[in-house]
Amino acid sequence: MAANRGEIAVRIMRAANELGSSTVALFSKEDRFTQHRYKADQAFLVENKSPVGAYLDIEKIIKIAKANKVEAIHPGYGFLSENPQFAQACKDNGVVFVGPTPGQLKTFGDKTDARKIAEEVGVPLVPGTPGPVNTLEEARAFIDSGVGYPVIIKAAHGGGGRGMRVVESADKLEEGFHRATSEAKAAFGDGSIFIERYVYKPRHIEVQILGDGTGNVVHLYDRDCSVQRRHQKVVETAPAMSLDPKTRQAMLNDALRLTAHAKYLNAGTVEFLVDKEGRYYFIEVNPRIQVEHTVTEVVTGIDLVQSQFRIAAGATLEELGLKQENISVRGVAMQCRVTTEDPSRDFTPDTGTIEVFRSTGGMGIRIDDGPGFQGAVISPFYDSLLMKVTAHAMTRRDCAAKLSRALREFRVRGVSLNKSFLLGVLDHPDFVDGTVDTSFIADNPQLLEPMLGSNR
Ligand code: ADP
Repeated sequence: MAANRGEIAVRIMRAANELGSSTVALFSKEDRFTQHRYKADQAFLVENKSPVGAYLDIEKIIKIAKANKVEAIHPGYGFLSENPQFAQACKDNGVVFVGPTPGQLKTFGDKTDARKIAEEVGVPLVPGTPGPVNTLEEARAFIDSGVGYPVIIKAAHGGGGRGMRVVESADKLEEGFHRATSEAKAAFGDGSIFIERYVYKPRHIEVQILGDGTGNVVHLYDRDCSVQRRHQKVVETAPAMSLDPKTRQAMLNDALRLTAHAKYLNAGTVEFLVDKEGRYYFIEVNPRIQVEHTVTEVVTGIDLVQSQFRIAAGATLEELGLKQENISVRGVAMQCRVTTEDPSRDFTPDTGTIEVFRSTGGMGIRIDDGPGFQGAVISPFYDSLLMKVTAHAMTRRDCAAKLSRALREFRVRGVSLNKSFLLGVLDHPDFVDGTVDTSFIADNPQLLEPMLGSNR
């Protein structure tokens, strides 16, 4: 069963289907006409007053699973994917949760706990508070003790690029502190915050790992997710380019050490920032499949979602043939997130009916689609991700060109897309060089301007 919607629900059901399992989808009332429902062998409505609430309704989801003898639930990303209570409820009801243990979800769901583990095993961290910060005085004392400005205040339970606030100077601290706390409470139900030094224009590099819960872990190399808008990823690449081989190896080793220490179960991602001097710092572990897992699958040839199901069913890495020396990278892969956001309205999510939908393809192009087809209604209730397009080629330049061509071929009418923005990124010489940092989009605001004619 896929306890999710959109493209990731389809991705999960495709993997389950290939493994010979029958598939079950869940959908909200608002999603009754969407694609993921029809891709499943069986689909069930989760009745809930709130469109998002349906995918968060642990009780009803478990009830449907039990009534229909569901063996395993894959939570995808977002929604219940990192919820320890949900993982526990699955366990208590004899349903396999495809992901880490409830204890691991709890530890890695709290960024301050994750930092503690990283520190214990000697993985370099962004200088920051040792735990949550409760008062403004505590925050001020910590910053004045040597970290200095700018700092970033983060929600301990934050995710998805939300719940972060950069504070440039001492006079902005009070406002930043109070806002961060109340935003964290409103968005994540927990006002805990912590503080890190704000690293100057870092690159975001992350390591994909798989573990079987015995302390055996392997990495599937790295991804560069530095192209971000407001701390949210836009285009992701595997492997990261122009990275000192020693730095890369140290990050891969640290990701393994950290997750082996935790006896990590299933798929996870260890995220790092790399500064201009080539120093790297751990920021967090995401204990779930990520949106950008596609690029890793494409360059390694390993199906991560299938691996997740097999590990959840009790297979060891060895039984899956996943030995570190057998895992290698071939060429370059890039993914871009096509969203129904309108660049001419400051990227506000657009809604409406898709009147024309002409997909794309060709050699080296992978499509992960969910809600996109002619007649589909894009509602305002959910994430605006319409489709992921991933390209594979032998060089970075060829890969960017292939992805750009695939995007230009793709046509949607009726709803605005962020296509012109993505094309601008892919054509930018700094992006093609492979050395952009997380400020790339902020430093190139022309990329955000709508381009007439290429938007739809
Ligand atoms: P989330 O869990 O919301 O994804 P992360 O901790 O992974 O949050 O951070 C997301 C992005 O925010 C990073 O990729 C980076 O661009 C920026 N960021 C986070 N921490 C720092 C930091 N200490 N200094 C500079 N940028 C940061």
